[in-house]
Amino acid sequence: MDIKRDVTIKTWDGTWTYHPKVVATPESAEDLVEILTDEVRFPAPVRPAGSMHSTARVNGDDGGTMVDMKAMNRILHFTDDTVTVEAGATYIVVSNALKERGLQFHVNTEIGNVTLGAMACAATKDSSFPGGFGQISSYVTAVRLVTPDGKLREITERDNPKEMQLIRSSYGLMGIIYEVTIKVRPTTALSVRHYSLSIDNFRRYYPIYKARGFAVMYYIFPYVKRVLVELRKDNPEVPPTSRRRWTYRNRFWRKYGPALTLWIERSTTNPRVRALADKLHFFLLRQALVLVVRSDRTWPHAQIINYPREPGANKYLFSMWAFREAGFFDILDEYCNFCIAYEKATGYRCNLPSVGYAIARDVEALLSYSWEGATLSIDPASTGGPEWEQFLHHYNDFCNQRRGAPLLNQTPFLTRDQVRRAFSTRLQQFAARRREADPKDRMLDSYFRELLS
Ligand SMILES: Cc1cc2nc3c(=O)[nH]c(=O)nc-3n(C[C@H](O)[C@H](O)[C@H](O)COP(=O)(O)OP(=O)(O)OC[C@H]3O[C@@H](n4cnc5c(N)ncnc54)[C@H](O)[C@@H]3O)c2cc1C
Repeated sequence: MDIKRDVTIKTWDGTWTYHPKVVATPESAEDLVEILTDEVRFPAPVRPAGSMHSTARVNGDDGGTMVDMKAMNRILHFTDDTVTVEAGATYIVVSNALKERGLQFHVNTEIGNVTLGAMACAATKDSSFPGGFGQISSYVTAVRLVTPDGKLREITERDNPKEMQLIRSSYGLMGIIYEVTIKVRPTTALSVRHYSLSIDNFRRYYPIYKARGFAVMYYIFPYVKRVLVELRKDNPEVPPTSRRRWTYRNRFWRKYGPALTLWIERSTTNPRVRALADKLHFFLLRQALVLVVRSDRTWPHAQIINYPREPGANKYLFSMWAFREAGFFDILDEYCNFCIAYEKATGYRCNLPSVGYAIARDVEALLSYSWEGATLSIDPASTGGPEWEQFLHHYNDFCNQRRGAPLLNQTPFLTRDQVRRAFSTRLQQFAARRREADPKDRMLDSYFRELLS
């Protein structure tokens, strides 16, 4: 295995910098056993890393060991309704391999660069189809892992359902996953439509969208109090033929959205001119999505985006909180007012549209953000910077006061009180089970130590 010492590593978006004592790149389960058992060569905390696309600081402490899983990336085998892969395989690569066999994932996230190991044990999001889940881990049926004390284990949904529930929220605290088996299904054409709505109309139409069986995702434009709703539905009547509709949308997120918004920022010094330019940019964006990204026969795989390895300035950053369906539309109204008031007070406005997902109730993972019922999320987005980070601290308070639930890997700057309030007894259960699994705290870093204490 490759071993590097005293290196500096940044997360994909550059928000977090790590200075691990050792970065190990294992190629086998035996390498993982060696890493977890040799406490001198591989100092604690030992933290697995996938593609490091999490927006929160989840990949370890300075002076510890980072385990880069990306070299263990083989696709091992397919059945009619599962695929088994090594943990470092990325979502887009596996999705493309499934496509060749007439199969697809149940959840097609926007991001494709992330690893299956992380997807199996950390929170994820996508709008849910009727009877389905928004979290990828809910479809994971088995994992093989090396425990914190260096033992090989297999955990399956059939034989260990309770443990599986823990593993799906374990964030690399209960062992390093090296193999993942996940349910897949036959490829089905996907119909997609976009509608531009006022917040009031979104409130009115949402129950209708749900009753008609659509998966509902939305872009939020808080400064003009509008949403652009994306409705998706399986269309088994026709074969899939269209990729391009998704390619256009994906180009916006990969590059043109951030690039255009940064150009507007650079070219305007007057805040009123900038607000007008933003208004025009986002109006055109809404029109383009309504008119262009509509089809009854898209390839589901084409939704997944391959973000550039080095995003430079044109990067897309976000945070996420989910809210129970019952009070959501009042909170959405308040969110728009919060953004407007925040800009008035500080001059800062988020320079990309916020997004959100309607997510079904999900009790497959212990720290699920839709444990108590279906949720809808509000995910502010931006190209980053210190003012964005400041905004997120205030946004976390806003959400916490409204009993939102965060994602421990996708909601940066969380405090212990916020996490406790959101997960209450489930957090205590998780903390107790983690202690049992890792009494020597071999895998516990300061981020999780603080949140779980
Ligand atoms: C531009 C962008 C777009 C995004 N879009 C989406 C989206 O559409 N949907 C969505 O759900 N998320 C999205 N994300 C968030 C991302 O999917 C999650 O944060 C995901 O967890 C990152 O996976 P990763 O492979 O980068 O893992 P990392 O960020 O490296 O790790 C995540 C967690 O998993 C643990 N871990 C990693 N590998 C293993 C392993 N083998 N064994 C045990 N533990 C492990 C780590 O220790 C850490 O706690 C997006 C992120 C970005 C930057």
